[in-house]
Amino acid sequence: MKSPISNEPMLVLELAGIEIDYCPLTNGIWLDAGELEALYEDKKAAEDLLASFKSEEGNREKKIRCPICNKKMEKVLIQTRVVIDRCSRGHGLWFDEGELLQVLEMEPGEGEGKVSGLLKEMFNHQLKK
Ligand SMILES: [Zn+2]
Repeated sequence: MKSPISNEPMLVLELAGIEIDYCPLTNGIWLDAGELEALYEDKKAAEDLLASFKSEEGNREKKIRCPICNKKMEKVLIQTRVVIDRCSRGHGLWFDEGELLQVLEMEPGEGEGKVSGLLKEMFNHQLKK
């Protein structure tokens, strides 16, 4: 799969047993449909999160294309804090650098979530190379 930002092939990385696609040039991450839910340990929180996504029609960030169907993706606002790109056909979600971590840290609970910890470790490792 090619990165919707750099158009270069993405790397497949494993995060907590889930395969994610990572763009090494921009540090962006693509999640196929269902993968964000799978990364959340609390399934109810994941459902609430997805239900809270709001389409941002007036957003002026550059539109990018879905790496699966190549249609322009829509901007969605998550809990008034993070704007990500979503394929309106339901193929998946694109997170620019750091955005996936912000979203994972919205998971309610004590202290740092396991998955966000793994993600930080992975990125430190990636960035050192
Ligand atoms: Zn698509």
